[in-house]
Amino acid sequence: MAVEQKELAVGQELVRIEDLHTQFFTEQGIVKAVDGVTFSIEQGKTLGVVGESGCGKSITAMSIMRLLPEPRGRIVKGKITFFPPQQNNINQTSVDITALDRHSSQMRGIRGRHIAMIFQEPMTSLNPVYTVGDQIIEAIQLHQQVDRDTARARAIEVLEQVDIPDPERRISEYPHQMSGGQRQRAMIAMALSCYPSLLIADEPTTALDVTIQAKILRNMRDLQQEYGMSIMLITHDLGVIGRMADEVLVMYVGKKVEQAEVRNIFHNPLHPYTQGLMKSIPLIGLKDKKLVPITGSVPSPFNLPTGCYFAPRCPQAMDRCRREAPPETEPEPGHFVSCWLYK
Ligand code: SF4
Repeated sequence: MAVEQKELAVGQELVRIEDLHTQFFTEQGIVKAVDGVTFSIEQGKTLGVVGESGCGKSITAMSIMRLLPEPRGRIVKGKITFFPPQQNNINQTSVDITALDRHSSQMRGIRGRHIAMIFQEPMTSLNPVYTVGDQIIEAIQLHQQVDRDTARARAIEVLEQVDIPDPERRISEYPHQMSGGQRQRAMIAMALSCYPSLLIADEPTTALDVTIQAKILRNMRDLQQEYGMSIMLITHDLGVIGRMADEVLVMYVGKKVEQAEVRNIFHNPLHPYTQGLMKSIPLIGLKDKKLVPITGSVPSPFNLPTGCYFAPRCPQAMDRCRREAPPETEPEPGHFVSCWLYK
C-alpha cells in the first residue's frame, strides 16, 4: 500500500483562525501573546507572517498546532477550524481544533498528518540518538497504515526531493553526521513525508547562510507546487516574504495590524508599522535606498500603552491614537489595516 496523498484544491479555505486570544500566565502577570487575531489560510497558498520578535507570530503557530505549554500558556478565547481536504471525492467534516484535547488521538492525527511544523533549529524535531531514516519512517508509520518497506521507500523519496544527495546511504546517518543545511532539509523531509496540507515554517532558514537559504526556499516552493500544500511562513525577513508569500499578515504586539496580498504590502503598505518595516530593509533593485530603522522598541507586555500599541513609535500618531485602539478596516478589497488614518 502506498503512502496516501490528499486531494488539495488550490484557493479553498484550509484553516480559519477567528478572534484568537492566547495568553501566558506568569508570576509578573498575564501576557496577551496573541490578542484577537483573525485570518484564514487557503489551500496551495503561502501566507507570510511578519513582525519583530515577540509580536506573537510563533505563538499563533503553536496555538494552531496545540503545542502551547498548557496550562501556563493557553488559548483563552477564539476558534481555530481545520477544513480537511477532500479524500476520494468525499468532503471531510471540519474540525474545531480549539475544542480538542491537545493530547487526544484526533489532535495527534492532525498534527504531523495534516499540519506539520518546521523550526529554525532542526534539532527541535530531530532526535540525535536515532538515524534520520528511522525518524522519518516512524513519522510515516505513526500516521499511515503502511509497512516498513513502503515507509522506507517514501523516506528515501522525500529525502531526494529535498536535495539530500545519495539518500539510500544518507538515510542511515545520524543528524550529527549531516551539515546544518542538510539537517534543515532532513527536518523538512520529515515534515513533508505524510503529505501535510499545511506546512508551518517558523524562521526555517534564519540560521543558514544565504546560498543554502535560497536553495531551501526554492526547494520548499517546488514541493509546494508538486503537493499543492499551503505554507504559513513565519519570518522577520521581508526579503524571504517577497520571494515566497502570496499574502502577508503583519503582527505587532500580539495584534494583526495589516493583511494584504504580497504586492500590496510591498507597493502600498498602509500601516505606519509596515511602512517602517519596509524602510528598514534593503530591497532588490533599490540598492541605493537609504535604510531607516523604526525608532524605539516593542513595548513590554506588562506595560502596554493605551490606545494603539504602536503610538509611542509612530511618526503619524494623533491624540486619538493614544486614547483608543483602532478598529480594523478594509480601505481596498482584500487589504485590511488597523489604524486611525484609514477610519
Ligand atoms: Fe500610528 Fe495612530 Fe495608526 Fe497607531 S493608529 S499606527 S499611532 S496613526
